[in-house]
Amino acid sequence: MDMIRNDWTIEEIGTIYHTPLLELIAYAANIHRRYHSYREIELSTLISIKTGGCPEDCAYCAQSARYATHVDEPQEMSKEEIIARAKELKSKGIPRVCLSAAWRQLPPNKFDEILEVIRIIKNMGMKVCLTMGKISADQAKQLAEVGITAYNHNIDTSENFYPKIITTRTFKSRLETIYRLIEAGIPHCCGGIIGLGESEKDRISMIHTLATLPKHPFTIPINALMPIEGTPLEQNKPVSTWELVRVIATVRVVMPTTHIELAAGRIQLNDEAQALCFMAGANAIFVGDKLLTAPNPSENNDIRLLNLLGVKQPYADKMNLKVIDI
Ligand code: SAM
Ligand code: SF4
Repeated sequence: MDMIRNDWTIEEIGTIYHTPLLELIAYAANIHRRYHSYREIELSTLISIKTGGCPEDCAYCAQSARYATHVDEPQEMSKEEIIARAKELKSKGIPRVCLSAAWRQLPPNKFDEILEVIRIIKNMGMKVCLTMGKISADQAKQLAEVGITAYNHNIDTSENFYPKIITTRTFKSRLETIYRLIEAGIPHCCGGIIGLGESEKDRISMIHTLATLPKHPFTIPINALMPIEGTPLEQNKPVSTWELVRVIATVRVVMPTTHIELAAGRIQLNDEAQALCFMAGANAIFVGDKLLTAPNPSENNDIRLLNLLGVKQPYADKMNLKVIDI
């Protein structure tokens, strides 16, 4: 039976999601190995080119201008600073950067500069992703021409729960940008967060929305909420490993070829929890001590863990770090 389907019903996804956990992990692992290798995990590093001062009110986000968080005055990196940062990452062997900006939508007056930066970084032999909010059809066309690897635009949760988390935009407007990306032929990176206060039904619904897009996302970031002081969700309790693994395994079963990014919240996971997430199908991580504004496991710690798990990673030797033989 062809495993790549876009006509999943919500009942089917619910049945998969509620499979007894060890069975579900084994099922997901079996599918994972048909389409991916446990020796490979995609590495990329986020560069926050515009941090803070975002007009949106995402209840989880430190960068929203609405909340008094540890992220204060908005900061923008110059073109030279972005290139220098990319060069530094390239020298460590990091193959891909994701340029992020806390904008509601990519401002037209910044667009040409962003295109130029993308060209320069690509000419350095690196892959470039973007996550900069809504984009117009014309911007999508030009981003396709310049050849970005993917554009990130998360739906974050179910359509039903979305208005409880974000009120300055709609779930529908998020999907409009995803459809624009698909039309322009740009691989879309679209996922979400668990631990927002959503129900299991919401998680299943979010996965159903992703699995029934005309094209499955190139990458699905699965974030575990990191409660940020000053945001409306600051008191939320962190999700358990078991919930995270269940979501990852379900995504893997219904979208076998998609890369699944074990994204924010990884610092809250020990080695065994991360290994279980990889077992269940996660095969991409952000490396570097910081995500956009939140902490991430250190590079050395990641090299140690990936080495321990037998994952080939290009950057250990280039960082002339002692690659520990286990
Ligand atoms: N500003 C762009 C946007 O919102 O599309 C991209 C910024 S960043 C890639 C946004 C994503 O990071 C969110 O969609 C969410 O999935 C994740 N994120 C942000 N704050 C988080 C938090 N406190 N805990 C976990 N994930 C978080
Ligand atoms: Fe702005 Fe993105 Fe943060 Fe939402 S998640 S507040 S859009 S930076």
